[in-house]
Amino acid sequence: MIVMKFGGTSVGSAERYQSVAKLVGGYREKQPVVVVSAMSGTTDWLLNTARTVSEGGRNLPEPINAERLIAEFRSRYKKVVEETITSPEIRSRTFSAVAAQLHHLLRLLTGIEMLGELSPRSLDAVAAFGEKLSSKIAAAALQDAGFQAEAISTEELIVTDAAFNKAVPLMGPTRAKCRARLLPLLEKGVIPVVTGFIGATEEGITTTLGRGGSDYSASIIGAALDSEEIWIWTDVDGVMSADPRLVVQARSLRRISYAEAGELSHFGAKVIHPLTVLPAVEKGIPLYIKNTFNPEFPGTRIDGSDQTAGGLVKAVASTKNLALVTVAGSSVLAVPGIAARVFAIVSDQKVNVYMISHASSGHDLCFVVENKAAQPLVQSLLKEFERELARKEIESITADSQVTIIAVVGAGMRGTPGVAGRLFSTLGRHGINIIAIAQGSSELNISLIVAADDEKAAVQTIHNEFLSLVGLSKSVRHHVESWTR
Ligand code: ADP
Ligand code: ASP
Ligand code: MG
Repeated sequence: MIVMKFGGTSVGSAERYQSVAKLVGGYREKQPVVVVSAMSGTTDWLLNTARTVSEGGRNLPEPINAERLIAEFRSRYKKVVEETITSPEIRSRTFSAVAAQLHHLLRLLTGIEMLGELSPRSLDAVAAFGEKLSSKIAAAALQDAGFQAEAISTEELIVTDAAFNKAVPLMGPTRAKCRARLLPLLEKGVIPVVTGFIGATEEGITTTLGRGGSDYSASIIGAALDSEEIWIWTDVDGVMSADPRLVVQARSLRRISYAEAGELSHFGAKVIHPLTVLPAVEKGIPLYIKNTFNPEFPGTRIDGSDQTAGGLVKAVASTKNLALVTVAGSSVLAVPGIAARVFAIVSDQKVNVYMISHASSGHDLCFVVENKAAQPLVQSLLKEFERELARKEIESITADSQVTIIAVVGAGMRGTPGVAGRLFSTLGRHGINIIAIAQGSSELNISLIVAADDEKAAVQTIHNEFLSLVGLSKSVRHHVESWTR
């Protein structure tokens, strides 16, 4: 049995739903469990609409209400169902299912509009409709192509905590529910088509796993069912040596380790959600990243094998919208307990730290956090260190909101001297200033901070230096080509 997840662009239109049905049908003997994202653009629309109605359209020129906003959305879905499904009977059933979902959505949006208030819990309830609609259409497309299929919401399958907008799955109850509900269907030859992205608390309240979370859903379900493989179908040829939007020469990697995939996704390779590898690692289930627009292409295999042999640097990733917080002063790290107090505040505010660094002189303590968390954090730190600031033990606490982290990833760097040196001199030659640097103790990843404006140039320069085939000797070129395509 395998789990197959289709992302937003893979189900972006009627034609795409039909291709997915054909593709899945072709793998029927593998007993696929299908996980679908919302149609591309839908989740953004739902989140924006919930915010707009909660503000009563205050910033818009004309008064706005949920009823009016949903009309256009309804016609988009009506058209997709019309164009996807050919059988009149299946089509009319799907129209009813979609209409029932939209009716429920409208009631929810009207409630939000009337209250003028939007809680994280309500936001999840609204955001979940994209995947619910998509699973209905994808299951109907499979039926229309002659297969037995059933749409199921993962509110029935994935049990999470109540951390709305970024819920954490509880694997014990999730495993029990997935097995009880899905295994009998598979035995009967039915293809389950389940929603990505969403779950529910033990009390049955809808939650979501965070943006891009459908990949994570696929791997949660794969682990719960002990599936042989988990296939993530997307719109590019697998995990590539760089974001293809930044580097046109980026190449698809044939095979990488869970650890490398984890690092790359954590530092911005959007192709898989950062938590996707975790459930798979625990069960040793290989993940494949494949392209729905190029299904014959093998894509990338992600597994637990040691990947030190496959080249020095495998890929470069970057993360935007970050801020560098600096606690500066001649004795910042000399005064005992300052770092501990700084990170206690960070942890109190539940802020995620991407990287920590301090100058070799030991004066400044710098760390990188999400941009939107930076200002509130600086305010709390200023309050916490009021006395130290007055006594000049700390000179300043500031946030520079225009930075990017560039992560250079590859298990082959482990124990190979000189990579960092080569990295710095290449960037230096191209006039790119490095603000700070950190290396993980696993030596899988070197991360650098550069100004946000330098992101593209830095990624391209690093890719040219370590991953370009141009200028390599024949034997080295042959070696690089053996692990990429
Ligand atoms: P889906 O809708 O299928 O989940 P996403 O848009 O979330 O797809 O992720 C796929 C996109 O990730 C690609 O179109 C590509 O632009 C981007 N991406 C960023 N870094 C990488 C990388 N290293 N390899 C492949 N794709 C990447
Ligand atoms: N639809 C959700 C999102 O846009 C989840 C996903 O596509 O992975 O974030
Ligand atoms: Mg995605």
